[in-house]
Amino acid sequence: MTVIFKNLDIEALKHKVASAHIFTKAFKLIKENRIAIRILSICIIFLMLVIVDTMAVGLNFGFNVKYEGKVIATVQNPDVSKVARSIAVENVSSEGADGAISVPKLTLTLTVGNNFDTAKKVADAIIENTGDVVKASALVINGETLVCGDAEVLDKQLNSRKTAYYIDGAENTSEFADQVEVISGYYLKRDLVDEDQIKLVVDALQVKTTSKIVKDTTVKYSTKTVWSSKYSAGYSKITTVGKNGITREVQLIESVNGEQTASTTLEKQVVSSPVTEVVTVGTAASSSSNAAASAAGFICPISKGQYKVVAYWGDGRNHKAIDLAANKGVAIFAAAAGTVESAGYKSDYGYNVVINHGNGIKTRYAHASALCVKAGQTVTQGQMIAAVGSTGYSTGNHLHFEVIVNGTRVNPAPYINLG
Ligand SMILES: [Zn+2]
Repeated sequence: MTVIFKNLDIEALKHKVASAHIFTKAFKLIKENRIAIRILSICIIFLMLVIVDTMAVGLNFGFNVKYEGKVIATVQNPDVSKVARSIAVENVSSEGADGAISVPKLTLTLTVGNNFDTAKKVADAIIENTGDVVKASALVINGETLVCGDAEVLDKQLNSRKTAYYIDGAENTSEFADQVEVISGYYLKRDLVDEDQIKLVVDALQVKTTSKIVKDTTVKYSTKTVWSSKYSAGYSKITTVGKNGITREVQLIESVNGEQTASTTLEKQVVSSPVTEVVTVGTAASSSSNAAASAAGFICPISKGQYKVVAYWGDGRNHKAIDLAANKGVAIFAAAAGTVESAGYKSDYGYNVVINHGNGIKTRYAHASALCVKAGQTVTQGQMIAAVGSTGYSTGNHLHFEVIVNGTRVNPAPYINLG
């Protein structure tokens, strides 16, 4: 093998040898200080790791917002604090809020990450830390703010006013005549009024109330008397128990400040109809009634076959007599002998005669068309004293016959023999 050196550069070769010498020296140094270099390497790696880590986490410069001696937020830009204060001032509804909210102070800070507060959040913190600003409600009537106070107190007073004219037991609704608004927000403490002042303003509001009332009215039952010859005179028994009915009315009552302005009947219905009470009264002559009749010694005041009983004692209308219908002009006889106590005209009885039979017993004969006797006159049993008619309070020709014992009218049925 032949090696040919062409244009050999001696200088370059010398340099190469020198370089090789430096490397050899360095290698020798590293070899001699192996441990120290290892420690240095570890330190460099560790430092690099810390830098990389810090960059990943993100260390940032920011500003602490100090308000009323307290750090309330951290912002990135000083302008955020300014904007926040403006928002806070604007959020307070009272006038002069600008004077009540001081200017926050800023101090530079180094912060980890990007957790800076927004202007809105800072504004909230400013309001929260301003002693003169409170959360409250304003009462606005027809667009004009009248008072400002505790929200709960205002609500309570408005509700109490709105329900002031409710009718017990009714279905009530109400509204204010004016446009009433409650606006809650932040207000300066000095603008708030107490409960008494709120009440004064609220009580001046006009209230329109509508009440739906359901009213039940009792309909009294009536009584009907059924006369029965199956039972003796003096027999009386309720055969159908009467029951009151109920009528229901639904009324709508409108009022302004409790003064009624309108009343409308929405509906009226019969909830239950009354049940007529039926009283069965006996008319048959009993041995005792015969005894009474014979004791009084009465005869029937109209001859047999000439009358018909049309109304008995009681008769559901407090009829304290017996009515014998007969043709006009039919003779009316004295039931027993006695003295004519009165004979004349009365608006209710028409032409009528009262005969006193002694022993506290009297008889009356009413609605006559003509009288045949005069007061003070004595009459005998069966003597014609009057003629049947329809005078006074009467709707047809009949004799209204009463028996009066010691001043009290009694059922005449047992005293006379009715054919
Ligand atoms: Zn009568």
